[in-house]
Amino acid sequence: MKVTEVAENTCILDCSEDVGFSLSEVAYLLTGDSPVLIEPGSTTTASRLLAASKDAGIDFNRLSYIIPTHIHVDHGGGAGYLARHLPHVKVVLHPRGAKNMADPARLVAATKLVFGDDFEQRFGPIMPIPERQMHVVQDNEVLRAGGRDLTVLFTPGHASHHISVYDRLTQGVFPGEALGFIATSMPDFPLPAAVPPFDLPLYIQSIDRLADLAPGVAFYSHCGPRSDPKHLIRAIRRTSIEIGRIVEMAVREGKKEEQIWTLISDYVRMSTNGGELPPEFLLGLSAYVSYFRRT
Ligand SMILES: [Zn+2]
Repeated sequence: MKVTEVAENTCILDCSEDVGFSLSEVAYLLTGDSPVLIEPGSTTTASRLLAASKDAGIDFNRLSYIIPTHIHVDHGGGAGYLARHLPHVKVVLHPRGAKNMADPARLVAATKLVFGDDFEQRFGPIMPIPERQMHVVQDNEVLRAGGRDLTVLFTPGHASHHISVYDRLTQGVFPGEALGFIATSMPDFPLPAAVPPFDLPLYIQSIDRLADLAPGVAFYSHCGPRSDPKHLIRAIRRTSIEIGRIVEMAVREGKKEEQIWTLISDYVRMSTNGGELPPEFLLGLSAYVSYFRRT
């Protein structure tokens, strides 16, 4: 595990090299009197973080909160594992996420649909979180931990149970998937992090909410922090809408997903001087298509 301080009292705990996961899982530790872990990742990642923490001189027993931005397996799948090993920690959850973490049967079924029946081989099991270890948040709630104020904002679109966190100390935002994902080949062209059941208007509203904060840094969950994210926020807003226009028209014309993929690839190539649409976006395409088929 690599521990890197990326902002005041804010470290990255990076297990990506260990996991071998194409979209690396980046966990953030807010240090101080009562540390906070944001994005614990899957159980595979979380168990490695816990095991490596002692060698890194980090005492996970002192954690006050664990905050997954949402309960998808690669962000919050390991929260139950950590709760079991850290009986004093509270896991911060959106009310809609809390139900599915008390009994993760539905989440497990949904994860199998996306990652296959054998998802546990890669991500580890999804364990339930006892209700006494949940902190179910409200929109705009301010959590006080380690001498800092963390504002929780509901940012649906990628998922109905998605939250983002604004840290006043660093003027940084933890957007989870709300500001898109950034492929290494296109560092200034984030793509919408769309998975079914994606909701495009809510996704745009969430982008606007985070833009209004004018954050000085965005702590992305899969590619690490980006300073001065204003242009990235503008870019993800524009791209999310443009891809929506392309897919909406193509769906109306009865085009197949392969044809729509070509249209989006052309758009990306034109917008990035030859950038290639990454294969990870296949799921995003299905999410957009199913959104426009049901609206
Ligand atoms: Zn997700």
